[in-house]
Amino acid sequence: MDIHEYQAKEILAGFGVPVPRGGLAYSPEQAGYRARELGGQAWVVKAQIHSGGRGAAGGVKLCKSEDEVRTYAGTLFGKNLVTKQTDAAGKGVYRVWVEGASDIRQELYLGFVMDRTSERIMIVASAHGGMEIEDLAQGDPDSLRRMVVDPAVGLADYQARELAFALGLTGGQVAQMVTVLHACYRAYRDLDAMMVEINPLVITGTGDLVALDAKMSFDTNALYKHPQIAALRDPSQEDPREATAADNGLAYVGLDGDIGCIINGAGLAMATMDMIKLSGGEPANFLDIGGGASPERVCQAFRTVLTDKNVSVILVNIFAGINRCDWIANGVVQAYREVGLTLPVVVRLAGTNVKEGQEIIRNSGLPILAADTLAEAAQAAVAARPTAAAA
Ligand code: GDP
Ligand code: MN
Repeated sequence: MDIHEYQAKEILAGFGVPVPRGGLAYSPEQAGYRARELGGQAWVVKAQIHSGGRGAAGGVKLCKSEDEVRTYAGTLFGKNLVTKQTDAAGKGVYRVWVEGASDIRQELYLGFVMDRTSERIMIVASAHGGMEIEDLAQGDPDSLRRMVVDPAVGLADYQARELAFALGLTGGQVAQMVTVLHACYRAYRDLDAMMVEINPLVITGTGDLVALDAKMSFDTNALYKHPQIAALRDPSQEDPREATAADNGLAYVGLDGDIGCIINGAGLAMATMDMIKLSGGEPANFLDIGGGASPERVCQAFRTVLTDKNVSVILVNIFAGINRCDWIANGVVQAYREVGLTLPVVVRLAGTNVKEGQEIIRNSGLPILAADTLAEAAQAAVAARPTAAAA
């Protein structure tokens, strides 16, 4: 789960990371008041969306007067901001952060991620921050410093100092960097984060370290331990289809094709999508209905898939272990009737109670196409598309 920059800054500040003073606004007028409260001559107005790359997309602006703050904030509210990291629809701006402008001497990059190879938290840092980590890794890979933390010991002071020196920091900056590193590490570990990124971490004109941007994302499986983090969820930043599906216990990811997929198990779902592509089709979605799916859940899966207007055929592929083919078949028949389906449906069932399941489909009298293998199912779905018939 992602959170906003201003929320990440508040959390990290609580662990000891220096951040600029700022205030949140829900309207252009309020943004103006925030600037006045903060005082000073210049402010940075920042669109709060769950995405980076806002600077390049026009979502971050240095303003020199209260009027400019208001006017610029006015151009952001209610708009969808499209960045390099969002899809073509972008993300809605409903909050802006107004911050006293910082005097930047140098921009550093600092990130904490889960390294799956070493199964440990890895720190990634560079003396050349500001640009996205992907661009850094491409354009300036030699500047990247990586360090893995032993969970039994935690981040050691000598490691933190070593990293600070490797970034070319000197004098008091080294101690400041050690503080920032410990703070991020503790925040990451204590709150079950998946990612902490400060980009840029800047050296100001007075030589001090300040986090100008902050990004955190959290392990959704651990959110039950951190209700204060779970409360930061912002549904306005989520794909409404994926959010509704998640509320119904379905793992759904929308894609660009026209073959709607209802599958149990993430692995089988991936394999089915590969098989669709191999057969010359494009999946409209990834959908895992999970184990023990009731007929109601299957119905819900149909509704979710059908919210995508590009879908022209539905492929149901179930390998029933915990699931039972008769439940799934009942769900398919029920969905057909309740949703008033007119699209072709291909069903492939295997595993527990497969005979009963196939019988339910056969006796339903519905024009459901049955397939025995995964490959047959994918080919049947590709052939059943109206576009395929026209061609
Ligand atoms: P992102 O593009 O979504 O990652 O947003 P950032 O918060 O990283 O802002 C993008 C860029 O705006 C930064 O890399 C800085 O160069 C610039 N920026 C942000 N805050 C300030 C500031 O206080 N003063 C100045 N001069 N530039 C800033
Ligand atoms: Mn940034």
